[in-house]
Amino acid sequence: MSGIVVVGAGQAGFQAAASLREAGWAEPITLVGDEPGLPYQRPPLSKAYLAGKSDADALSLRPASYLAEHRITLRADTRAAGIDRAARRLRLGDGESLAYDHLVLATGARNRALPVPGADLDGVRQLRGLADADRLKADIATAGRITVVGAGFIGLEFAAVAAARGIAVTVVEATARPMARAVSAAMGAFFRAAHEALGVRFAFEAGVEAIEGENGRATGLRLAGGERVAADLVLVGIGVRPNQELAEEAGLAVADGIRVDTLLSTDDPAISAIGDCARFPSPFAQGLSPDGSVRIESVQNAVDQGRSLAARLTGRPAAYAAVPWFWSDQGRHKLQIAGLTAPEDASVTRGSGEAFSVFRFRGGALSGVESVNRAADHMVARRLLAAGTPLSPEQAADPDFDIKALAM
Ligand code: FAD
Repeated sequence: MSGIVVVGAGQAGFQAAASLREAGWAEPITLVGDEPGLPYQRPPLSKAYLAGKSDADALSLRPASYLAEHRITLRADTRAAGIDRAARRLRLGDGESLAYDHLVLATGARNRALPVPGADLDGVRQLRGLADADRLKADIATAGRITVVGAGFIGLEFAAVAAARGIAVTVVEATARPMARAVSAAMGAFFRAAHEALGVRFAFEAGVEAIEGENGRATGLRLAGGERVAADLVLVGIGVRPNQELAEEAGLAVADGIRVDTLLSTDDPAISAIGDCARFPSPFAQGLSPDGSVRIESVQNAVDQGRSLAARLTGRPAAYAAVPWFWSDQGRHKLQIAGLTAPEDASVTRGSGEAFSVFRFRGGALSGVESVNRAADHMVARRLLAAGTPLSPEQAADPDFDIKALAM
């Protein structure tokens, strides 16, 4: 028996392996990952770990003893290079190959590169893995002026950590507000003000024309209007691309992600895909994309898909329909999002000041809820969305309407 081989020893791959053992899978499980060390969680890399408030051991999803006890073979520092679907073998970078009965692709995503001259200068950085975070930690210990390209979650979390150290931080963003694709205008405005209060300067609707440097090192950015922003460190956080090449080269369907069905199976029944690399049909994505499919980059999605796949592979198949949820810590504020929203979804705000939620509606139905410092609203939103309990914009707008009671 060849067992299950998982490519990618990140959040999703590790969860699939752990859940398979919990569900009673007795055959071999091999985790193939191209990073060194034990599987680890990424969220602290732009939060507590970057700020020096937690160490590398705290990042590990489980200690080495867990893998040994659960007979999960970890092939760290090992890149999967190709799939021979007919022979059911995974080719590794060193030429060796592993036989599989079932192959799980959990290859995650990689950062988009900034397509401008100077992007390869020293001092231009990205943040995806532990090695990136370690370099950035050393960088911010000496940096005087940092420019972040992209006002998304990771760029803003990084900006908050750097600003808290007294570093002059400028965030350059192509759209008109922070997190424009992910949150409402009201939530974006709140976080803009929160970052500005930390000393962060923003340049919105700003295109980067080039990164300028001296002696091979970045010294600043030139914006489309000609403005120059000085920087001794540039963090590029402009989104990610799914690692789908293995699947694509093996002839599997891809479209901004490896295409899977509701059971997380690719069009080869012996191969599944989960986590950041997978595009799947979701009941929460109706009206968001032409075919109702989505690719989600979050811990929740990686973990729940790992569990869902393990259940199917051990004889309990169920369509994947977990409520998407997400969090981001920026300075002293916690943003939580439940559901999947589009920028044009209608917004209804409950609460005020530094603790409020924005209820979002698409076609009159609740599509998601963004909460800042209102954890109770977030939990209620997850329950409402999971049960499909109707909530109207009028009910959400009425401060006397008891939404919590509706969710019970
Ligand atoms: P990954 O964790 O990326 O794991 C994929 C692994 O596969 C990687 O180790 C990769 O190197 C490896 N791999 C790829 N190709 C191959 C190959 N050919 N052979 C072998 N190995 C391969 N989400 C939240 O919900 N909340 C947060 O606050 C949050 N903060 C984040 C902060 C940072 C800095 C980052 C980078 C991400 C954050 N995320 C957050 C997102 C979350 O971490 C990801 O959605 C999650 O890690 C996805 O898990 P995954 O297993 O699909 O991918």
